Amino acid sequence: MRYQRSSALFAEAKQYIPGGVNSPVRAFKAVGGDPIFVKKAEGAYLYDEDDNRLIDYIASWGPLILGHAYEPVLNAVIDKAKKGTSFGMPTEIETQLAKLSVSMVPNIDKIRFVNSGTEACMSAVRLARGYTGKDKIIKFAGCYHGHSDSFLIQAGSGAVTFGSPNSPGVTQGTAKDTLLAHYNDLEGVKKLVEANKGEIATIIIEPVAGNMGCIVPTDEFIKGLRDICTQEGILLLFDEVMTGFRLAKGGAQEALGVDADIVTFGKVIGGGLPVGAFAARSEIMGHLAPEGPVYQAGTLSGNPLAMSAGLAMLTELNNNAQIFQSLADKTEYLHKGLAKVLNKKGVPYQINRFGSMISVHFTDEPVVDFASSAKGNNATFKKYFHGMLDKGVYLPPSAFESYFLNDALSYDDLDETINAAKAIDL
Ligand code: PMP
Repeated sequence: MRYQRSSALFAEAKQYIPGGVNSPVRAFKAVGGDPIFVKKAEGAYLYDEDDNRLIDYIASWGPLILGHAYEPVLNAVIDKAKKGTSFGMPTEIETQLAKLSVSMVPNIDKIRFVNSGTEACMSAVRLARGYTGKDKIIKFAGCYHGHSDSFLIQAGSGAVTFGSPNSPGVTQGTAKDTLLAHYNDLEGVKKLVEANKGEIATIIIEPVAGNMGCIVPTDEFIKGLRDICTQEGILLLFDEVMTGFRLAKGGAQEALGVDADIVTFGKVIGGGLPVGAFAARSEIMGHLAPEGPVYQAGTLSGNPLAMSAGLAMLTELNNNAQIFQSLADKTEYLHKGLAKVLNKKGVPYQINRFGSMISVHFTDEPVVDFASSAKGNNATFKKYFHGMLDKGVYLPPSAFESYFLNDALSYDDLDETINAAKAIDL
């Protein structure tokens, strides 16, 4: 593998863009070295600027569940673009995508489209506060809900009740309304709710977490959250930016059998174009402007190109629901193959998996929350990441990210991936 041109492009990018990237994880800070610059992508493969072919396990961090440059999505976008790219006025396709989304996902009657997962979560929390008349929210250490101020709260410290900012620029005033709990720790949530009785608007959670590696909730934990919310008049907010239209047609609600009150979306729903969304029952969504007083807006929201990509993508998934099982089968195959290789190498590891999300941590303790995820050996992870990259496999460049499998991956690609792992010296 050669990376000269990528490195040269990165050097130039750094002169004009902070850190050379428009989103930090892309910069390879966790794994070292220069990031790969992409020239094009097709199906399961990325082609970089040095003409290396890479098997892609991030799929643009989730959206491209059917692979890159998926023809029905491309055609839909091209057709739409010829008719104008943005109007800032209502279009029929927004209703078509809304209607289809609402038909696929449980417990939602209405949906509002925005441009990113960050916007979706930020707006959903505002709606939850407006609806309940309460200010505080509970989030879980290690869960990521975008870069809006209320969510950038330090992760990991023990019995923290009041959050503190982990990014300069987030005020203490904002941070004090974000309470921190720990994933898979129901007792901790109960205590937090008890200590802040009647003050909590929403509990926001990644129902299967993908931002500390892949972490699966225990049944008791996720169902327990539902019960607490119902008992205390708190809205359960599932951040399904990653899991929506990926774990099942109806996302994690369907896959886990748990009902949420508000749901956010971000990746698959846009088919690879910038779309986010938040949705709930009519009673809750009725509080949103212009129907109700909770304000939220967007110049490019419901953009016709983005809507056409989303509509083409969801139509495919709606018509071919076996894709979710086929993706889960491929992910299980990868899991078993990698486990066999890592067992042979004798290196301590944990593989977590749910549906088409999977991650590898180099630790001998089960990874169930942020603290256990953070115990992974980063030196081993770096060797693993760069070893795989050099053999043509592109994995997330941080142990705190999940892989996202896409349907274009063949069993040959999976075998090539497993063989690549075999050849690495860990
Ligand atoms: N929520 C979750 C669960 C996410 O994984 C992400 C992004 N990876 C976001 C929200 C934010 O989405 P965006 O990057 O589109 O703003």
